[in-house]
Amino acid sequence: MSYDPTNIFAKILKGELPCHKVYEDETALVMMDIFPQSRGHTLVIPRAASRNLLDADPAALAEVIPLVQRVAKAVQTATKADGLRLAQFNEAPAGQTVFHLHFHIIPAYEGIALGAHAAGRADDGELAQLAKDIAAAL
Ligand code: AMP
Repeated sequence: MSYDPTNIFAKILKGELPCHKVYEDETALVMMDIFPQSRGHTLVIPRAASRNLLDADPAALAEVIPLVQRVAKAVQTATKADGLRLAQFNEAPAGQTVFHLHFHIIPAYEGIALGAHAAGRADDGELAQLAKDIAAAL
């Protein structure tokens, strides 16, 4: 399947739709997931256009993975999570719902089960505060 440039993350990358932005540079945009699986669920979205890992340019992957690590550390610092899950889905049967490559950084808290994928909408005030806290820890 080919890349559809009208997907929602492409629009967010172009600034056509709003997001709770944590960070951006020439490589990627980092934002809060608005349907988080846990408090602090953050998305790293490379600017390079690909549906997912399978059609991504290896050079683009090489550029973005150090940022994924940096953001993971900042999320851990800001949320005081006990662990972190890194997730990335390839095609709908695997759980992908937005067809522009992105990496999920999902904090895990001792004794709290992760929520369902892309389910409940989080409070915008809380997301804005988390974005600020994670940005400060970057
Ligand atoms: P995936 O299922 O891997 O394609 O993940 C897409 C993720 O994007 C899900 O976790 C959704 O909760 C999240 N999401 C969908 N729309 C938005 C949006 N407008 N802003 C932030 N996150 C979004």
